Amino acid sequence: MSQIESPEVTVRGPDGDPAVTVIAGVHGDEPSGVRAIQRVLDADHEFERPVQFVYANPAALAADRRYVDVDMNRAFPGDAESDELEERLAAELLDVVGETPTLSLHATHSQPEPMALVSREYPTALETSAALPTPSVVDTSQTVDGTLNRCAPVVTVESGRQRTEDATDTATMVIETFLRLHDALPGTVATGDPRFYELDDVVEKPEDAPPGTASSELYDLEAENFELVSEGAVWATIEGEEVTADEPFVPILMSECGYQDIFGYKGVPVGESLADAREYWGMG
Ligand SMILES: [Zn+2]
Repeated sequence: MSQIESPEVTVRGPDGDPAVTVIAGVHGDEPSGVRAIQRVLDADHEFERPVQFVYANPAALAADRRYVDVDMNRAFPGDAESDELEERLAAELLDVVGETPTLSLHATHSQPEPMALVSREYPTALETSAALPTPSVVDTSQTVDGTLNRCAPVVTVESGRQRTEDATDTATMVIETFLRLHDALPGTVATGDPRFYELDDVVEKPEDAPPGTASSELYDLEAENFELVSEGAVWATIEGEEVTADEPFVPILMSECGYQDIFGYKGVPVGESLADAREYWGMG
């Protein structure tokens, strides 16, 4: 079977090295980002700096599958010599991105509101995320390895529920805002006003769960994403047993049907503004 084995890159705007990057399709079953890029390409925009638009995993997109061999967003920095397609694609994608400010679009099962994921190891990405029209910004630097935003100045945006028109609309607006913030499109940006969180812990499936069981067969979520669960509160039932919080946390990307191997994440609020968050993290 033949398949496209490299990211697909389209450059628009004036001649020169790409100054900004917009990525969709790191996960092949999230078409909203690809549709949003298509809309931006079809609009009559005059790009003022060279912009590269990238479909990260064309084979997975064509197959409408999350991935072909392994989850690409756990494979970074990747390996050009690997037998696994996504390991090779991850290495290639990092070369394409280089040092450019980058937006990577995803969609989720867990919530309709958009959210941004960044690594505070890249302060410029953190700064960009604060200006995007997403109500929540989450730093993933302490918990999740292998994601694109751990390896380059990338803002990852979950633009809404997978395969919805709303997710495509939101992704389109986020791309245009991102390009304005980086002077690639004319016009000003109304400043965003997100709250900031840090991912603290992964909620794994129970150890005695039969292999291959989906989260939906094990968990019932009794809390809302980004709403504080107080100490002692029941926040889920696992196979009929109530689970109480040992300490306060906010559920992040928790969903009964989202991931095969985990239920989601626990996070903590770190500030109501970028300044608060930077102070919490001792960033001066
Ligand atoms: Zn995704």
